[in-house]
Amino acid sequence: MPVKRTEKTRMPAREARVRARDFQEVNRGYTTFHAAFEAERCLRCQEPICVDGCPVKIPIPDFIHAVAIGDMAGAAKILRTSNPLPAICGRVCPQEIQCESECSMVKRCESVAIGHLERFVADWERTRPLAVMAATTRKEKIAVIGAGPSGLVCAGELARLGYPVTIYEALHAPGGVLRYGIPEFRLPKAVLDWEIGVLKATGVEIVCNVIIGKTLALDELLDKHGYAAVFIGTGAGLPQFLGIPGENLNGVMSANEFLTRINLMRAYEFPEADTPVRVSKRVAVIGAGNTAMDAVRTALRMGADEASIVYRRSEKEMGARVEEYHHALEEGVKFHWLTNPLEVVGNAEGWVTGLRCQRMKLGEPDASGRARPIPIVGSELLLPVDNVILAIGTTPNPLLTRTTAGLLTNKKGCLVADEQTGQTPKARVFAGGDAVTGAATVILAAGAGKRAAQAIHDALAPRR
Ligand code: FAD
Ligand code: SF4
Repeated sequence: MPVKRTEKTRMPAREARVRARDFQEVNRGYTTFHAAFEAERCLRCQEPICVDGCPVKIPIPDFIHAVAIGDMAGAAKILRTSNPLPAICGRVCPQEIQCESECSMVKRCESVAIGHLERFVADWERTRPLAVMAATTRKEKIAVIGAGPSGLVCAGELARLGYPVTIYEALHAPGGVLRYGIPEFRLPKAVLDWEIGVLKATGVEIVCNVIIGKTLALDELLDKHGYAAVFIGTGAGLPQFLGIPGENLNGVMSANEFLTRINLMRAYEFPEADTPVRVSKRVAVIGAGNTAMDAVRTALRMGADEASIVYRRSEKEMGARVEEYHHALEEGVKFHWLTNPLEVVGNAEGWVTGLRCQRMKLGEPDASGRARPIPIVGSELLLPVDNVILAIGTTPNPLLTRTTAGLLTNKKGCLVADEQTGQTPKARVFAGGDAVTGAATVILAAGAGKRAAQAIHDALAPRR
């Protein structure tokens, strides 16, 4: 139902705050009327700073205005033109530190619920027949390595610009972390499949089970298979370990392995599915980022009686989205703040029985800008656990750089590429996403893919 923007429809701040909270809390059963009501709170600022906070520069006031006047198709079109993965970003983007933190309404009461409106519009779009928007008009073929958000968005943008694009993906299904990392309860596979379906409908070809650097060399794509340019979006999927005693015991695994076994290999259906996963009664997850929250909440769903987070800093320094932290608290996850693991303890059969830790206090900021954790002497403790899951970070897999001449990496193992264009030191090869920045966010990877697609087009367009 269209809502006309008049003085009368403006709400007093207190009521607006209540409405905003209601809208954010009700995920199901809200209608275009509720969405329009929330959208009506947008001031349509002359200089919309919310757009500055968005890595793919969605024209936020325009799509929100379309919602406010009941033009859902218009809102969907505006969104999709600047972000090819709106149903995904509406669910997993950290809006609270991006567009919503910049929103002028924060000063008055509460930010416009930009992320929830994005999700609402994208979900509305999913109920409508697919509108195919691109046709191949260019002859130069482009190859994309990796079907995570950076690769998918780069491919989608190139297809929109008229290029024939093929994505080569190492795993048996596309999506990258969106498929193997982020669990169903946060990002349903049906939503991911739909977004990938839209990209395929625009002409993007996806070839799975091909590891570039093993099945095919990157140079073969350029020289033998005739691709005019290659985009590398291989992510940062190599888990880091602590290097403490006991890490090789049975029952210790990386969060990436744990989540992949469940999300991609459907361990929850074992033995119908081939891959098992062992989840015991007491699970400790080390780390406090999004990956740690996903792992600990998944452990509870897999039947753990007690699941806890062990983190050497405090709640203030954790990397997870506030929303994920609140969900974990609501679900009964325990938090051991200022607690640093020293050793995984096991029994004679080689199974985990506990985690020996030390209490910490916070000191001055370190190189990361966060308060440095300092051990408290004589504060050791033993947490009785039977599973330890490590979620302390990931780095890019070195396979591609080791097998391709002309690519450079920095000291963190990330690919060297121009921040704006994604151009690597190797001619006709571009890169973006976690492979370049290290583990970051979906929208930053999407933004890098989008900019690289434009740079590839700019490089090829003069040859027309
Ligand atoms: P990826 O998503 O890692 O995709 C890379 C793809 O390349 C993979 O499919 C991989 O199989 C493929 N590949 C790798 N090497 C090769 C090769 N040699 N040949 C062919 N294919 C190859 N971000 C958020 O914004 N919000 C969240 O809530 C959030 N939650 C997260 C939860 C978890 C558990 C994890 C692990 C990450 C989370 N992130 C979140 C981070 C976000 O998912 C990543 O920043 C993003 O997926 C990076 O995208 P990418 O395209 O660079 O790489
Ligand atoms: Fe609307 Fe907030 Fe953006 Fe202003 S900053 S245009 S109020 S969403």
